[in-house]
Amino acid sequence: MINGAQRIVITCHKSPDGDALGSSLALCNVLRRLGKDAVVVTPDMAPKSLEFVPGVRELIVFTKHELRARHALENAQLLFCLDYNSMNRIDRLAEVVAPLNVRRVLIDHHLNPDDTFDLKISFPEASSTCELVFRTLMQMGLLRMMDRFTASCLYVGLLTDTGGFAYSCDNPEFYEIVASVLRRRIDRVGLYNKAMNTFSADSIRLQGYALNEKMQLFPEQGAALIVLSKEELERFNYSRGDTETLVNKPLAIPEIYWSVFMREDADKIKVSCRSQGDFSVSEICERYFHGGGHFNAAGGDFVGSLQEAIDVFYQVLNDLFPPAQQESESVNTTDKPEG
Ligand code: 5GP
Ligand code: MN
Repeated sequence: MINGAQRIVITCHKSPDGDALGSSLALCNVLRRLGKDAVVVTPDMAPKSLEFVPGVRELIVFTKHELRARHALENAQLLFCLDYNSMNRIDRLAEVVAPLNVRRVLIDHHLNPDDTFDLKISFPEASSTCELVFRTLMQMGLLRMMDRFTASCLYVGLLTDTGGFAYSCDNPEFYEIVASVLRRRIDRVGLYNKAMNTFSADSIRLQGYALNEKMQLFPEQGAALIVLSKEELERFNYSRGDTETLVNKPLAIPEIYWSVFMREDADKIKVSCRSQGDFSVSEICERYFHGGGHFNAAGGDFVGSLQEAIDVFYQVLNDLFPPAQQESESVNTTDKPEG
């Protein structure tokens, strides 16, 4: 498909994260080195915290450069869909992408991809889309095209989608991929610091506030809930990405094995869920929050008030841990599931 196309567009999901941007920019760079006219079109802007990813400045951002995005997509001879599994993950960009008469290649690691792709490279067991881009390049014999720039992009996704090599990276081959990327002499420490440990003062203060004053624990159900209203976010000069890793924090508490974060955005409530072990949050997000994702990391959008979203959380508690069952199993409720 690549051989038969000159103009190639790569897309990734809305509110792009390190894996979405890293995989898209890495693939774009390799395609350019092969002489293709390749561009990355994103549904919306990358957060400030990811401006360090090589190539971010060249993104065509649909919400900012709509005409250029339309032009690129309408003239594309091949379309890559990276790090998303369905059209509702690209927001309004879907209105442009859906009607295109172009071959679509999916490279993704989310559960249950749509059927709208001509070629599906879908492996939910993979750590990241960056891992899948690496493997795809390798199998096409194109690893020699992986320069320092490409390797740096891939490293960002390998690192961030595994929480700094903490989860979703049990496969020993993952570290062979990391090794191969490191051989391109990337700035490993610099990328780690920028990708994993850089927050504005406002963001740190907001996280402190959220943990100190807003974290509710439900030890009987192994759950934590943090809710931040628009007013609270404004008080801390919230900007996108500021609450990125907050939802993980309660999981440090031994009794807590699933965590929910709700953020009141302009037009919806953004829900983020994380879990440890044998407890699926993608099912919860699919059933209750119009979302989905991975087994242990999922999210969704809730249209309604913050209070209605909180009510749904209590509904989840009730459905999953009916009061009668809670009593009969109360001996066990402090155990984390194995995993
Ligand atoms: P986050 O909580 O960091 O926003 O998202 C974690 C994961 O949940 C993402 O990698 C993605 O798989 C999934 N996710 C987040 N928001 C949504 C959403 O609105 N819809 C769907 N289908 N998945 C989401
Ligand atoms: Mn990903």
